[in-house]
Amino acid sequence: MSASEKATRTFSAKIKGIGIRGQLVLGFTAFAFVILLIVWIFQILLLDKFYEFTKYSELRSILDTIEYSIDSEDIDEICSDLAAQYDVCIAIYTVADGCVNECIADKEVSPTCVIHYAEKESLNDYYAKALKSGSTYTQRLNLNPEPGFDNDEHSKEVPPHHREENRHKNREDLLSEVVVSVKALNDANGNEYAAFINLRFTPVNAIQQTRNMQFGYIALGVIIVAVFFALLFSIRIARPIERMTYSAAKMANGDYSVEFKAEGMRETKHLARTLNFAVEQISKTDNLQRELIANISHDLRTPLTLISGYSEMMRDIPGENTPENSQLIIDETKRLTTLVNDMLDYSKYSSGCNSPAFEEFNLTESVRKTMARYNEFVKVNGYTIDFDYDREAGIVADERMILQVLYNLLNNAVNYTGEDKRVRITQRIIDDAKVRISIYDSGEGIPSEKLTDIWDRYYKVDKSHKRALTGSGLGLSIVSRLLQMHSASYGVESSEGKGSCFWFELPIA
Ligand code: ADP
Repeated sequence: MSASEKATRTFSAKIKGIGIRGQLVLGFTAFAFVILLIVWIFQILLLDKFYEFTKYSELRSILDTIEYSIDSEDIDEICSDLAAQYDVCIAIYTVADGCVNECIADKEVSPTCVIHYAEKESLNDYYAKALKSGSTYTQRLNLNPEPGFDNDEHSKEVPPHHREENRHKNREDLLSEVVVSVKALNDANGNEYAAFINLRFTPVNAIQQTRNMQFGYIALGVIIVAVFFALLFSIRIARPIERMTYSAAKMANGDYSVEFKAEGMRETKHLARTLNFAVEQISKTDNLQRELIANISHDLRTPLTLISGYSEMMRDIPGENTPENSQLIIDETKRLTTLVNDMLDYSKYSSGCNSPAFEEFNLTESVRKTMARYNEFVKVNGYTIDFDYDREAGIVADERMILQVLYNLLNNAVNYTGEDKRVRITQRIIDDAKVRISIYDSGEGIPSEKLTDIWDRYYKVDKSHKRALTGSGLGLSIVSRLLQMHSASYGVESSEGKGSCFWFELPIA
């Protein structure tokens, strides 16, 4: 195993904690548990209560309908409909002297009907209880008491002949309970009636064991399915991430040939693409930095060699201590200073520690100040720098930074301009809102495919340019950083062989 692979593995192995796989399995299982708990509460724990509630509501609704329709001629038909709809037995009796008398509606649908087999005596008894409790009396009866069923009170209400009949009922009926409800009614003429309802009540707990077992199987199945899907998802998510982590660790060890595979879900594919872009950018910067180090070492070495060579010569050889030689040493020292300053400036501005100190100042004046720095150079080397402006323009910005922008752009224009040694600066007010500074040169221009790259750190179009003042490749990246800090728009237009125009715009004060 190579050292880099070893480092990659150690790096990946450092982090502890629950991974995506574990999280998903836990999450899915917890979700399944919650669903099962809800199902268990409603389907098992509270089912009896729900069933009871529904049945008693039905009972109330039937009795209310009968009471409402007691005067109707179609009461018999209404009772048939109710009996069929709710699967209940109905019997309505007239009442005379507190005793049930004549049956005016009689619907029997259930073989476990109590009211149709009860003696009149029992019916009277029910009726009396209904009167006593307001108007309605309801009783739940177990027809076949099983061991342990608390039925002492109810069973005595069941008519004995009915118990006899029950022997012939099927299993479902045997398990049944019934609810008998009686309501004392009066019609419009004040006649009294007793409405009896017999409702079959299947005790839900009779199939409790079956339901519990079924629930157990369902729970097991649901949890197995949840874990299976959790694993499936986790493989789809975790595997690409694990691969990417491994590649990222390789990249961190300086291997920029790694490729992040776009696989799995949309987000992981997106992440892989972003990382591929990042690795491309990092490797580009890395190459540029390598080039820069080579360039800088070269750029530093040349003046240093000249400075030390000339100094020694001036010290050792009589007559060589001339103003020309001293000037050469001064020039070379300036070159070094520019290079070092650029590097310092770039790291200062790109670190984000320096925020602009905004104040109002005259931009036109700043241009003039920048040009003044070149007065000597222009005179000595035969350059022409023109400045054409419409009116004085005040802006709110960091003057020191804007001066640096102007200086860097003018410096480039002077360095790259053509044989005519001409540079032109214009200042235009746009819509009374913005001021645009453009710096034109008549040099070779910049190939269109390089126009975006030139703003990058350390980028040089011509790697072997041989101008008098060698640049660091940082000038334009400093300019772009400073203008971005001012939210200014800026750009470059260039045509090869004709020259370039670097411009920027700032709002006027
Ligand atoms: P440098 O210090 O090398 O000039 P800059 O960041 O200022 O670095 O510029 C980056 C590159 O952009 C330069 O190396 C040069 O190739 C190109 N460039 C900048 N300004 C001009 C210009 N006015 N004309 C032509 N090329 C230019």
